[in-house]
Amino acid sequence: MTDIDYSQVTGMIHSTESFGTVDGPGVRFIVFMQGCKMRCQYCHNPDTWEMETNNSRERTVADVLKEALRYRGFWGKEGGITVSGGEALLQIEFVTALFTEAKKLGIHCTLDTCALPFRDKPEYHAIFDKLLAVTDLVLLDIKAIENERHKLVTSQSNRNIIACAKYLSEKGVPVWIRHVLVPGLTDIDEDLIALGRFVETLSNVNRFEVLPYHTMGEFKWRQLGIPYPLAGVKPPTKERVQNAKNLMKTESYQDYMKRVQS
Ligand code: SF4
Repeated sequence: MTDIDYSQVTGMIHSTESFGTVDGPGVRFIVFMQGCKMRCQYCHNPDTWEMETNNSRERTVADVLKEALRYRGFWGKEGGITVSGGEALLQIEFVTALFTEAKKLGIHCTLDTCALPFRDKPEYHAIFDKLLAVTDLVLLDIKAIENERHKLVTSQSNRNIIACAKYLSEKGVPVWIRHVLVPGLTDIDEDLIALGRFVETLSNVNRFEVLPYHTMGEFKWRQLGIPYPLAGVKPPTKERVQNAKNLMKTESYQDYMKRVQS
C-alpha cells in the first residue's frame, strides 16, 4: 500500500448509484464512468458513450469517496464500491487512484469492465497491475465469444477482451464473467457452448452469470435521437435463459471444485 495521496486525481463521472445490488457482492456504491468505445446494440447507458457531455462531471477521488462513505453503514461485510461505466478502463488512472484511497480505508473494490482498452503488452500490464493490486473483484462482460458476432453486437473485436480474461486468470484475480442474453443476437446455442468451454479454461471464475436482456435502456436511445437497433426484441423466455445456463455450464470453477472435493 502506498502512502502517496491520490485524492485530487480527477475523472469524468457520468453518475453514481447509492444502493447497487447486482454489480458485485452485497450492497454497493456504484460509480458510472463516462466514455465507452463499444456500441453494444443493447446498451442501456448510451449516454455514457461520449467522454464529455452536458451531464457528466469532472470530479476528484476525494469528492467521490466522500459521497460513497455516506452509505458505508449499509455495506455490511460484503459490500463496497464498484466502478462501472461506460468503460472504466478508459480512465484507469482515476480508477486506480480511487481504489488506492478506498483500500486505505479497508473498502472492498470491484471493477466492472468490458476490457476493450486492455492491451496484452508489457507497458499496459505494468499500468493494469497497479489497478489489480487494489482491486478485489473484476466483473468481466463477454458479449460474444465468436469474433465476427462480437463485432456485430458491439462494433468491436473481442481480441483484447479474451486476452484480458486470460491475463486475469494467470494472475489469479477473482472474476465474475457475465453474458447478456439477447434473443436472436447472443442466444445462439453453438456460441453459448463455445463461451462455456472458454470459461472452463479459466481458473479464477467465482461466478458465471447469464444476464437476460431487458428493454429498460431503450428510452435513452430515443432521448439521444439514436435509432434503437433492437426495437421490438423482447427479453428472453425463462426456457431460453435456462437453456443458456445449461449450455454454458454456468457453474463456477470454485463451485465445481467444492463439488468434486466434497
Ligand atoms: S460496453 Fe457497456 S457502456 Fe459500452 S456500449 Fe457496451 S453496454 Fe454500453
